[in-house]
Amino acid sequence: MFIHKIPSFISSIFPRFTWSKETDDEIYLTFDDGPTPEITDFVLESLAEYNAKATFFCIGKNVESNPSIISRIISGGHSIGNHTMHHYNAWNMDFASYLKDIELCDQLFQQNGIQSIGFRPPYGRITPKMYQQIPNIILWSVLTGDYNTSLQASDIVKSIKPYLKPGAIVVMHDSVKAYPQLKNILPEILTYCSSQNFRMSAL
Ligand SMILES: [Zn+2]
Repeated sequence: MFIHKIPSFISSIFPRFTWSKETDDEIYLTFDDGPTPEITDFVLESLAEYNAKATFFCIGKNVESNPSIISRIISGGHSIGNHTMHHYNAWNMDFASYLKDIELCDQLFQQNGIQSIGFRPPYGRITPKMYQQIPNIILWSVLTGDYNTSLQASDIVKSIKPYLKPGAIVVMHDSVKAYPQLKNILPEILTYCSSQNFRMSAL
């Protein structure tokens, strides 16, 4: 069974990380691993239809190859976070090299006038050193599992609906891998959040 909701004991063990937010009416849709040609534009157009704002945790090398998409993200009023330069797995490398990859992404952002709202570790892989040394790590409370092709899109939406509520941070992916699911679940998530009068906001 796919676990869509982060158990509360996990978030209470790591209170320094942002898992969700306190708010009466806002929900936070987030998209990792882009920008990706066409797919990020599909997301931006879908968001615009609902006057929704969101947050994009971008991989530096994808930012390098798609500067015009970044301009559209920013002009749409969305926010951007650091998702490392090369999307390495923190569990498979030494911390200094991992930090360097975050820094490379940060430098690229600075060169391009991109303001980062925080850091999200690839694969959600966290380590004790990361916990001690990296400020402003933003994780999520709801994992759609859009990258999981063995799930049915209708089942994903049905399973996550109970967790779509004010304060939730929802993770999706504007990636080639996730697109077959994303193209079906995103319109439904937007319709549902809109019907509940949630304000879909950028972090
Ligand atoms: Zn990622």
